[in-house]
Amino acid sequence: MKAPVRVAVTGAAGQISYSLLFRIASGEMLGKDQPVILQLLEITPALEALKGVAMELEDCAFPLLAGIVQSDDATVAFKDADYALLVGARPRGPGMERKDLLEANAAIFSAQGKALNDVASRNVKVLVVGNPANTNALIAQRNAPDLDPRNFTAMTRLDHNRALSQLANKTDSSVNDITHMTIWGNHSSTQYPDLHQAKVAGAAAMDKVDQEWYENDFIPTVQQRGAAIIKARGASSAASAANAAIDHMRDWALGTADGDWTSMGVYSDGSYGIQEGLIYSFPCTCKNGDWEIVQGVDINDFSREKMTATEQELAEERDAVAHLLP
Ligand code: NDP
Repeated sequence: MKAPVRVAVTGAAGQISYSLLFRIASGEMLGKDQPVILQLLEITPALEALKGVAMELEDCAFPLLAGIVQSDDATVAFKDADYALLVGARPRGPGMERKDLLEANAAIFSAQGKALNDVASRNVKVLVVGNPANTNALIAQRNAPDLDPRNFTAMTRLDHNRALSQLANKTDSSVNDITHMTIWGNHSSTQYPDLHQAKVAGAAAMDKVDQEWYENDFIPTVQQRGAAIIKARGASSAASAANAAIDHMRDWALGTADGDWTSMGVYSDGSYGIQEGLIYSFPCTCKNGDWEIVQGVDINDFSREKMTATEQELAEERDAVAHLLP
């Protein structure tokens, strides 16, 4: 058996974590041969609820669960962490403007970035789920100057998975037949789900759907899926968000499928003309625990316009918290 790795999860008593933690502990994220120590962070008022979650984890007697740490101190929860899933975030309250939400979260994610910088493994793989995820990831990254910016990522995998299912339904195929799906940009309603490279059983997806469906049905459905779930369920998506976090981390750690790619919010190196330093979702492949932006994807005028709109939103979010960035 391998030596255990340390997996930190914030917002560990929340809804997403309630679906996430049990799957990490059962080996679905890092493999059935990889023991894990869960290091759980919560705000002080949620520590009692967290205790209940930890008791349930114990009661599963997971063979791979080598320990549980519970804390309201980020320097305890992130100590030597190999993986950090930053799920906890301040939800939008009544009357709260977007700017207030950005600022409230900037405070949380700058403190967490500093703590990761101080105590986490130098190779820590960070996934930000808490919204606004891309900008929260940027804030954490900027507050962790001793860590490689490539260690910080944001989740657009749920959007990617939603896009796979929508296309599979439309083309009467299986998600297993679909490859080369791409989500560009921000995990928000400006994200751009791009079908121009997608393939259905090896054939171009755009040859199987019409432009009208693509523009007026597919794109808005993927962009607005979170709101549709809240309307239907009376609560935010939680299990599907947890599932996407597992997929993101598993692919990053263990590699993407040969001949395919995934979508990840990563540190822009200027690829495709996207401003350097933004955390922007690109098509990525992963190998040996590292990710790489897929190069050479054809960008037509339609795509460029949408990629720029979501880039602008990210630049505005960055500028709104600029006074809080080191
Ligand atoms: P959830 O577990 O449902 O959601 C947590 C975060 O994930 C939210 O920011 C949410 O954004 C975001 N998210 C990202 N993608 C999705 C998606 N597809 N569907 C739904 N949510 C998504 O929230 P809870 O309120 O149940 O739990 C949050 C926990 O975090 C609480 O227990 C709270 O105490 C804790 N917390 C912990 C902190 C810490 O550890 N330091 C700091 C702040 C809070 P959105 O709001 O847009 O839905």
